[in-house]
Amino acid sequence: MPEDIRTPEQEPRRISDRRELEPRTRELCTALLERAEAAGIPTILIETVRFTPRQLWLYAQGRTRPGSIVTNAKPGETWHDQGIRRAFDVVLLDAAGKAWWNAPAERWERLGAIGKSLGLTWGGDFKGLRDLGHFQLDRVTLAEAKEIAKVGELRAALSGVSIELAAVTRLLNEAQELASLEDGA
Ligand SMILES: [Zn+2]
Repeated sequence: MPEDIRTPEQEPRRISDRRELEPRTRELCTALLERAEAAGIPTILIETVRFTPRQLWLYAQGRTRPGSIVTNAKPGETWHDQGIRRAFDVVLLDAAGKAWWNAPAERWERLGAIGKSLGLTWGGDFKGLRDLGHFQLDRVTLAEAKEIAKVGELRAALSGVSIELAAVTRLLNEAQELASLEDGA
């Protein structure tokens, strides 16, 4: 983690866009929400990727900022991390369509079971801080997930520049031809 990033004074924006997730995690997130809906336990997505300032802000809660501790993960140590993107948080909805944090445990358990049937790890099973709305795709280690994410980013970046690369190659070939003409002159 870069040393120069300080804990922000105000809460950095929560990102709930599922397109920010690693592709397989995104598919499983969609499947979880669809299956929960079909099972009569409507649920909404509330958070996906977390950038360093927000993780620092959350980590500070209950430590250097008032409130109860919500995470033991520093930036780079959570599956939500910008360099991993394999975790998301959801919340159950009540009959009025409002976030239902105090829903009966049985309802959260049913949601957790759906997530686990999809191959996700459920935060409700965590030994330390239980996190009922949290799901993560952790079939690889945190370090491996970071490497996989880097390859994914590289691939995305290359697909964006491939057209430009072709243009650059053509220009280089033309320049070489001109140079050889000059040599022969
Ligand atoms: Zn989470």
